Amino acid sequence: MPRPDCLPPCTPACATRRHTVLAALGLLALGLAPQAGAAPPAPEPVWPAGSPVPGGVVRLALGSSIARPVARAGDVPLLVLGDASNWTVLVGIPLSAEPGEAQVWVQVDGVERSFSHTVVPKRYREQRLKVAPGHVDLSPQDLARYEAERSHLEQVMATFTEPVPERLRQADALRMRAPVAGPRSSSFGLRRVFNGQSRNPHSGMDIAASTGTPVLAPLAGRVIDTGDYFFNGNTVWLDHGGGLLSMLCHLSAIDVQAGAELQAGERLGAVGATGRVTGPHLHWGVMLNRAMVDPALFL
Ligand code: ZN
Repeated sequence: MPRPDCLPPCTPACATRRHTVLAALGLLALGLAPQAGAAPPAPEPVWPAGSPVPGGVVRLALGSSIARPVARAGDVPLLVLGDASNWTVLVGIPLSAEPGEAQVWVQVDGVERSFSHTVVPKRYREQRLKVAPGHVDLSPQDLARYEAERSHLEQVMATFTEPVPERLRQADALRMRAPVAGPRSSSFGLRRVFNGQSRNPHSGMDIAASTGTPVLAPLAGRVIDTGDYFFNGNTVWLDHGGGLLSMLCHLSAIDVQAGAELQAGERLGAVGATGRVTGPHLHWGVMLNRAMVDPALFL
């Protein structure tokens, strides 16, 4: 029997695979791929791991400056970490990004300059399914509800809290803990095609766990939204600061209210099967500068 999953636009195939593939990609991106016969030097781990692909995170070193740099991609503000001796800007790359050159703008002491980086193509797996037509096309009522929710969620997703909390500025500060124990899918980025129609790619990590299992904050943060949404079911959004957000979906219970400040590991709800899902599991999304990025990069 297949593992319970989200239904579109949140449907993974959920083959259980550890994230060694992603870890290997991170090493390759750094030019540190192990060579036969030579023991590779162990790179210093960083969170999130750099992965310059759609759905990944680019880490750009900005060097030193007394003043804290301010960075943006287009008009979207970016998260800058570090201290006066060495600043780093993190750039979340949307799954929809086109491979090629991309630019960010960094301002220090009123002087702005651009940094370019390369988005490397990544071919995510594709899942083709045939389902009853009613499961692909929303009814007019469902569509109206979804559209209303989407405009609300766009506001939630644009949250950018400054100043970046002191706790986020250190190199290992963005290391997250899995919000629930259980087998994790490697279905981030999975391209879904239902009855020949493309749907949004799967933009989070699914973790299998039974209904009622406590869901914990993956990192300290403030609850900025709770609600029952058409696709995502009962959902909690956490603001970790600087445009880094977590989204926990399909909950059977929500134990927190908007405005609550949570420590890492604090309970916020329980695993469930609310929204469009085939069974109980947690869908965990991580958003950086309004781009859903692979949560595995933060573990
Ligand atoms: Zn999911």
